[in-house]
Amino acid sequence: MENFFKNEENNQETPIINQYDNLKDNYYRIFIEAAESIRASVDKLKPENPCTLCDKKCNIEKKDIFTDYPVGCKYKEWQSEALSYLNGEYREKLKTSYKAIMDKKNEYECNKCGDCCRLAVSEYSYEQLKQRAFRGDKFSKDFHSVFVPFNTVEDAKKANPEYFDALGDLVDDKTYYYYCPKLKDNLCSDYENRPDICKDFPHNPLKLLPSRCSFNAWRIEVSKQSMLLKAKTDIIEFYKQKLG
Ligand code: SF4
Ligand code: SF4
Repeated sequence: MENFFKNEENNQETPIINQYDNLKDNYYRIFIEAAESIRASVDKLKPENPCTLCDKKCNIEKKDIFTDYPVGCKYKEWQSEALSYLNGEYREKLKTSYKAIMDKKNEYECNKCGDCCRLAVSEYSYEQLKQRAFRGDKFSKDFHSVFVPFNTVEDAKKANPEYFDALGDLVDDKTYYYYCPKLKDNLCSDYENRPDICKDFPHNPLKLLPSRCSFNAWRIEVSKQSMLLKAKTDIIEFYKQKLG
């Protein structure tokens, strides 16, 4: 396991599209690891042989966390307990891990390449961002306050061809491309007033970054931790749907 991220850690020159493929491959394995770890935590809460004291005679053979148990069954109580644990103590641990990942970002510095201002992508159109901002979504409000849409997809590609190509199948015909007109001579011309969305960039350790972005080093350093966290968060949602 110690060489799990060998490709990314040892080869900073790997083209970013290859790094993305590595991430997808690694995510699958990490997802299995996360599922097994959560299953082990849940199994620790499992009651031991309650059927010996039960008169229901339900004949359920597989005592799995997702089995449909009758009312009053001790295994049903186990399901509730597991759900409370995952929603409470376990989720708090995940939040602490996420904070540690984001705090780690402070060890890296922006190199002022301007690439994050030159080309940004969103699943929302300019009008949708405006509506979301109106409804109180802070991220959309910040985004809409500085970014404007490119006239054409070709213009977006010209802004940063390598990043555009690297986005590959992460984007589709419902992706919208933006740039910030405040970027002048490669620097922010309104630095003091830039919104939080700019101050806090990058916001997500699992998002592909422009290849020149110095926070790629942070993204690589925390990639396994981030993927594990994402997998655990998704798996908890699955447990909630099944047991809630
Ligand atoms: S406001 Fe400044 S930092 Fe923010 S995207 Fe525009 S140029 Fe970049
Ligand atoms: S892409 Fe990264 S390194 Fe470049 S200006 Fe943006 S945050 Fe800084």
